[in-house]
This record gives sequence, structure tokens and C-alpha cells, in this order.
Amino acid sequence: AAKDEQRGICRAFEARMDIAAQEKNRLEKDFRAAVRNDELEVHYQPLVNLETGDVECYEALLRWNHPTRGLVPPDVFVPIAEEMGLIDQIGRLVLYQACVEATLWPEHIKVSINVSPLQFRNGNLLSTVINALSTSGLCAERLELEITEAVLMEKGPRPAAIIRNLRAFGIGISLDDFGTGYSSLSYLLNYPFTKIKIDKSFILNLDSEANSRAVIRAVIGLGRSIGLTVAAEGIESEVQRDYLREEGCLQGQGYLFGKPEPASALIVPGRRAA
Ligand code: C2E
Ligand code: MG
Ligand code: MG
Ligand code: MG
Repeated sequence: AAKDEQRGICRAFEARMDIAAQEKNRLEKDFRAAVRNDELEVHYQPLVNLETGDVECYEALLRWNHPTRGLVPPDVFVPIAEEMGLIDQIGRLVLYQACVEATLWPEHIKVSINVSPLQFRNGNLLSTVINALSTSGLCAERLELEITEAVLMEKGPRPAAIIRNLRAFGIGISLDDFGTGYSSLSYLLNYPFTKIKIDKSFILNLDSEANSRAVIRAVIGLGRSIGLTVAAEGIESEVQRDYLREEGCLQGQGYLFGKPEPASALIVPGRRAA
């Protein structure tokens, strides 16, 4: 009987695996169609100066507008795109679209774009970025690329060389989700970062956890002492904003200031008509 029961559990498990595999299959098929049918949409979320409240930058955040599922978040489809070998194509799309959109904003407002570690592997990130700038006419100083530590853990000299070249063109380089990985201090010194973004998990727990406050304070001090802009993501309350500002964090992003929205819904003071 125990054997039978085990076999039953196995079969139930296999059935569930089948469903998961089918679901994944369906998503992959849908995603290929999404790229063809233009279902990917770039949304924009403001980063504001915590002293003045002025918008200094918009981060481009990709959305998949699925015909029946509605908006699918990037945490679901970016890994699919990476696995299917479509991330370069999608990365190019976001870069071009966001750079063109940013040319409609006042010149003091920058645009930041997330870059997948895989885009550093396949070789033409630098020329893709330079092409997006020259096609759109956006000047390099108005573009920031957000990378995570996963990029720096890629083997070989390539990521470092690409990052240095991008920086040499005047493009800003942000270290995203800071504090969640190894947060090695040598990364901060060995790469020409211009900004660190403190991960939202620390901001979320700011009110309740003295440890989160301690990490936030330490990261702000560290970043400032080596000349980096320090930004925080996931700010939802005034208490969080006030703490960050008082500790010397320069920029903030979060629902308190604005959610990600399609370009057509943005209210950018001084935005030109497309
Ligand atoms: P990220 O770059 O760290 O982006 C910040 C995420 O925090 C966004 O999630 C944003 O919507 C969310 N967020 C901002 N403020 C708040 C807040 O106050 N509360 C809460 N709960 N969340 C907030 P989103 O848009 O779902 O993106 C998730 C991740 O997907 C991004 O994290 C980024 O790593 C990746 N991603 C997004 N767009 C792209 C893209 O075009 N290319 C690549 N390679 N990755 C992308
Ligand atoms: Mg980001
Ligand atoms: Mg982040
Ligand atoms: Mg993130």
C-alpha cells in the first residue's frame, strides 16, 4: 500500500510538472507572437530629487500587454526572453523607443534603461547603444544604463571593457538593486559607476527594521564618499522619503512619486508633442 501511495504521489507530481511545462510552453509561444505583434510596451517611472521633488530622470520599464492575460510583468517574461535568445532584440527595442521618447522631454531630464547580463555576452551592446543615440539624436549624457551585479560576475574582461567604453561616451552607469547580491566594495571601485540604486527591499523594511536603516545609512555614506549619486527605489511613504532625504540620499523612485506609466500618460512639464 505504501508503494501504491508513493506511486500515486509520483504521478500527481508528474502531472503537475506537465502542467508547469505546458504553461511555460504556452508562454513561450505567446511571447514569440508578442514580439511579432508589437505587444511589448515601454512604461516610464520618475526618479525625483528628494530635496526639491523635481523629476530628474524616468526609468524605462518594459511591459507585455498580453491579449488575454493583460499586463505581464518583466519578472515573468524577461527570463523567457533571455532563454529564447530574444533579449538582444528586445533590448534594442527598449533602447530605441526610450531614447526617442526622451528627446521630447526637457533637456535636464534623463532616461535610464535596464540592461540584461546577456546583452553583454553577445557582443554588440556598445554599437546598439551608440546607434540608438545617433538615430534618436539624444545626447549621451542624458542616457543611463542600469546593470546588476550579475553583469559583473560574467567571466572574462568583456563586461568591464564595454562598461568603460559606454562611460567614455558620457553615458551614466547605475548599479541597480544594490545590497541584494554580494555588494562587493571592489566592484564599486573597479567600475566607473555614476549611481547606485538601493534595492527596494531595504526601503520596504525601513520603518520596522533597524538593520535596514543601518544598511541604508551605510550605503548612502559609502556611495557619497566615492562620489556616486545615491538613489533609492520603492519609496511608498513620506516617512521613508524623509528618512532617506535626511540621510543624504539624493534621488528617489516609488509609488509615492509615481507609478510606471505609458509614455502617452506621462505628464512631463515641457514635453514636446511627438
Ligand atoms: P528594477 O530595475 O529594479 O525596477 C524597479 C522595480 O520596482 C519595477 O518593477 C518598478 O515597477 C518597481 N517599483 C517602483 N516603485 C515601487 C514602489 O514604490 N513599490 C513597489 N512595490 N514596487 C515599485 P517592474 O517594472 O515590475 O520591473 C521588474 C524588473 O524587471 C526591473 O527591476 C528590471 O530588473 C527588469 N526590467 C524591467 N524592464 C526591463 C527591460 O527593459 N530590460 C531588462 N533587461 N530588464 C527589465
Ligand atoms: Mg532598474
Ligand atoms: Mg532595482
Ligand atoms: Mg530589480
